[in-house]
Amino acid sequence: MSTKPDDTGGPMTEPCETCERETPHDVSIELRTESQRTENAEYSREPYRVSVCRLCSAERSIRMNNA
Ligand SMILES: [Zn+2]
Repeated sequence: MSTKPDDTGGPMTEPCETCERETPHDVSIELRTESQRTENAEYSREPYRVSVCRLCSAERSIRMNNA
């Protein structure tokens, strides 16, 4: 049971506002449709980086559109 920390597949450590410290997060990428502003939002799917704190289950989603 001596698993070395790995760059690939390991939990991301990020600061959590709820825990007020850095905690391991489960990070995933989701395509979410933005249908709030316009009606013809069929093709306005934006990638979101969703991170969930493993300690308090707080979810944070950040849109990855850097353009
Ligand atoms: Zn937390």
